[in-house]
Amino acid sequence: MFRDFYELWPEKFNNKTNGVTPRRWLGWANPALSSLITEKIGNGWITDLPQLHLLKNYVNDKEFCLRWREIKMHNKKRLAALIKQGCGIVVDAFALYDVQVKRFHEYKRQLLNILHVVHLYDRVKRGDDANWTPRLILFGGKAASGYFMAKTIIKLINNVAEVINADPKMHEYLKVVFLPNYSVTAMEIIAPGTDLSEQISTAGKEASGTGNMKFMMNGAITIGTLDGANIEIRKEVGDENLFFFGLTAEEVFQLRKTITGCDYSHGRGLASRDAVTYKRPFQPV
Ligand SMILES: *Cc1c(COP(=O)(O)O)cnc(C)c1O
Repeated sequence: MFRDFYELWPEKFNNKTNGVTPRRWLGWANPALSSLITEKIGNGWITDLPQLHLLKNYVNDKEFCLRWREIKMHNKKRLAALIKQGCGIVVDAFALYDVQVKRFHEYKRQLLNILHVVHLYDRVKRGDDANWTPRLILFGGKAASGYFMAKTIIKLINNVAEVINADPKMHEYLKVVFLPNYSVTAMEIIAPGTDLSEQISTAGKEASGTGNMKFMMNGAITIGTLDGANIEIRKEVGDENLFFFGLTAEEVFQLRKTITGCDYSHGRGLASRDAVTYKRPFQPV
């Protein structure tokens, strides 16, 4: 938005990655997990989240891991009830809950996700189903009122869901749900019940993201791109909990330049991060 302004006065810009409060998104939204964590490491994590690292002492504690899994199952049943209430579809709590909830936008690539769903459907149809894990793929989110392409993608997701869910052969393999009326209140139920968080925006487009943080603090693993706060989250949780794929922001800019001739390499995503290296002309109050 501010490219020209930035080129004139780069020192006027700096970047702060935004965030969410663990009081709401873990303490309030996931009381069962919060109690288990507090029982093991005390309640300091509520105002000092890095204390969650203390949980590493329990990774081989069988009783702890069992209770962790029981809590996840409890939260998945809570989410299953929300889905039943929201769109009448019954989902199995033993399936892997693969979730992408966020505003609908081309750069967030719900389209990529639904094409993957079509691929999974095709695999089952072809009998390529060795070591299959049953999956629920959950979508939620709204489009801006005039955003025709975003609405078309929502329509596509609903159509693919209709075909897959109506196929009796698919019942033990795949279920696809578009949950209407995605909201912050719904997210308080969704994040604790998620196994796999989808954070797959085109690298360089997502300033930060906050959904990624809500899922991660509730113990979901993430599949994502090198974009926004995903990068900072991986520094904390390690690549055994956040699986990266795809191009870097720089590779995306280069590819776009090659294909379209447009040079956006000073656009959102890189410029805002470079700006922090400029010396400030005055100390902020
Ligand atoms: C957290 C949240 C968002 C932001 O999600 P992103 O994945 O960061 O885009 C949007 N809408 C609702 C209702 C949320 O709770």
